[in-house]
Amino acid sequence: MKDNKFETKAIREGYKTTQEQEHSAAIFLTSSFTFESAEQAALRFAKEEQGNVYSRFTNPTVEAFQDKLASLEGAESCLATASGMSAIFATIMALSKTGDHIVASRGMFGTTTVLLNTIVKRFGIEVTFVDLPDLITWKDSIQSNTKLFILETPSNPLGEVVDLRALSTISKKHNIILAVDNCVMTPALQKPLALGADIVIHSATKYMDGQGRCLAGAIAGSSELLEEISSFIRTTGPTLSAFNAWVVLKGLETLPLRMKAHCENARQLANWLNDQSFVEKVHYLGLESHPHHQIAKEQQRDFGGIVSFEVSGGKEDTFRLINNTKMISITANLGDTKSTITHPASTTHARLSDEEKKQCNISDNLVRISVGLEDISDIIADLKP
Ligand SMILES: *Cc1c(COP(=O)(O)O)cnc(C)c1O
Repeated sequence: MKDNKFETKAIREGYKTTQEQEHSAAIFLTSSFTFESAEQAALRFAKEEQGNVYSRFTNPTVEAFQDKLASLEGAESCLATASGMSAIFATIMALSKTGDHIVASRGMFGTTTVLLNTIVKRFGIEVTFVDLPDLITWKDSIQSNTKLFILETPSNPLGEVVDLRALSTISKKHNIILAVDNCVMTPALQKPLALGADIVIHSATKYMDGQGRCLAGAIAGSSELLEEISSFIRTTGPTLSAFNAWVVLKGLETLPLRMKAHCENARQLANWLNDQSFVEKVHYLGLESHPHHQIAKEQQRDFGGIVSFEVSGGKEDTFRLINNTKMISITANLGDTKSTITHPASTTHARLSDEEKKQCNISDNLVRISVGLEDISDIIADLKP
């Protein structure tokens, strides 16, 4: 199956049928597993025999999701977690310790920035924030205790991009682990490991589920790095439930197809917005006018489903535009079949200080749309003033 195309892998990899020969994956809703004998239990606990023990460690449904995603990311190994945040937290805590230093990109998912600024710092781990595209600042921020680079590319909502190959040359030279949150792209559009990253992190809550049903997260990378994260997860407990694993496992089967449709709708919406007088500026990587269009074209398969734009006017005009929509859902979630609209400054990025918002260009007239899979003419009609 190794040579199969991505679309085929998404459907065919990662599930071994049980004796019942079910065609769709079974859900193993069980907390623990039994043993044929006391001897077998002892062997399993000693890790001398492979097999399930307890669902905080392994579960067949969760493993099916992990194996499918590992195949799609081109990773040796993958670990599922209860949410995207627990994937990010587990990665940071398992790979760094008090006295270490992390360099992170500015303007990541709001909660990630808060996590780094509060809990992570409380453990005596230093954090420096840099502008995502600026390779020189990444390099200049390196200290003798720098352990981890962590970033999202493209950034959400503005779609800034860093040259991953170039950044990984810097991180490798200094023995720094490069972790990329690939949630907004998914492996259908970008494969950070192939571009030199060491770890890929996901909120599978978004495009992988793709239908707004559950929370899930994942971490993919080399078996060696993931072994450390795995023991952190086993011991602290943010494992993915079998039911949610099944939901995202089924989601992965249609991921390539859905991402294509999200990109196509986003492209059409961005082009339309670009011509409207109520719009001051459109941020979409697919537009040739976007400053990072070229680099995105080189390292991504397409430009994704998030379109942001600045409304002509202030916060009141922006709220009015959002409130005028009848079909598009007002919610901060993204990656759903349903189009969603949000005002980042007062929702996803509300906990950033005014200074931080300014640094990452989250202005009061910025709107983010996660373009769904409705017919594009209906999405456009809903945004007409
Ligand atoms: C939503 C999101 C997260 C957090 O994921 P949860 O599943 O909500 O915990 C992390 N990173 C990015 C880029 C996200 O969009």
